[in-house]
Amino acid sequence: MNADPYAWIEKSLDTVRRADWYRSPQSIESCRGPTVKLGNRRLINFASNDYLGLAGDDRLIQAAVAATKELGTGATGSRLLSGHRDLHRQLELAIANLKQTEDALVFSSGYLANLGAIASIVGKRDLILSDKYNHSSLKNGAALSGATALEYNHCHLEDLKAKLEQNRVKYRKCLIITDSVFSMDGDLCPLPQLIALAGQFNCMVLVDEAHATGVFGARGGGCTEHFGCTGLPLIQVGTLSKALGSLGGYVAGSAALIDFLRNRAATWIYTTGLTPADTAAALEAVKIVQQEPERRSRLQQNIETFKYCAITNRQLPISHSLSPIFSLPLKNAATALTAGSKLKEMGIFAPAIRPPTVSVSRIRISLMATHELAHLQQLVEALGEVLSFDSM
Ligand SMILES: *Cc1c(COP(=O)(O)O)cnc(C)c1O
Repeated sequence: MNADPYAWIEKSLDTVRRADWYRSPQSIESCRGPTVKLGNRRLINFASNDYLGLAGDDRLIQAAVAATKELGTGATGSRLLSGHRDLHRQLELAIANLKQTEDALVFSSGYLANLGAIASIVGKRDLILSDKYNHSSLKNGAALSGATALEYNHCHLEDLKAKLEQNRVKYRKCLIITDSVFSMDGDLCPLPQLIALAGQFNCMVLVDEAHATGVFGARGGGCTEHFGCTGLPLIQVGTLSKALGSLGGYVAGSAALIDFLRNRAATWIYTTGLTPADTAAALEAVKIVQQEPERRSRLQQNIETFKYCAITNRQLPISHSLSPIFSLPLKNAATALTAGSKLKEMGIFAPAIRPPTVSVSRIRISLMATHELAHLQQLVEALGEVLSFDSM
């Protein structure tokens, strides 16, 4: 027996390569502001989730440095043992204030917040209804929970209703899970209608505000604020790593829910607390998000300008949305890769997104408050040229 038990790994990688699905990280240097240095070239960055430009903000950097000097680099333990600092609590209260909920709990990432929340809220005898386009962390949270998980068609409330009518009575608890801003298409979940439907069937709703926190709502409270759903009994999840420019995730909701999660969410209990630096930076960001609505206005202006130039004027086949996320659907993975490298040659960093992340290959574009008009114009020109190269 000299069979290599690890030989399957290379084989599996070959399959990935043959499908043009192979991926590897590329190193980006100096990424404060709307441009990045990639190799020896400077490109305009349309691939960042730093929607408000806070990841390079001096105030966040100073807060992180000060917290590190005072408290050290690591939390040194889980929150229930040695890892809890007053700073964590300050951040949780600030998030609860931003979301207008009774309380909040900070996790080491948004991904872990979803896994921990979903897996502790529902179990074997329960039902999960999940939007087909939900983020990987919601889908894996559903799988981890052991509940029966059914997918409904993307943002399709009739399909959701039909599935509830058919299945709800067979289960004890029911949880509907959805992104509020869908991360790959940038469209918004019809939250008020979804919540009303959930009410009719006695279902809980978990809404993932990863791309909405700081971006939507007059105070940056997310889509719940944008849609006037503030104060409704929801389970709200989000990340500290997108518009808030730090690292970590949160769950916001009722005091009872948060207390329950502190006692039951394995991805919170059995993991090290957030670093002082990440915690302090996020706390500073939550304050800025509320105090500087002009950042959201600038982002909104950029969204309008880009829509006007690219879609109204040039009629480029780009998906419409209210969010800063746009997508240019392409024929297949190879075409998307070619488009991505052509854009790079033209000074634009907007990478190809391929299966299995999405079912339809595309160029994904995300706008930031810190993009200038000239950046947007250069993007529109480059997209136009890429599309005219061949019939993509
Ligand atoms: C990015 C993202 C997450 C994960 O957040 P991290 O803090 O990066 O782990 C969860 N849900 C959605 C919808 C996201 O886009």
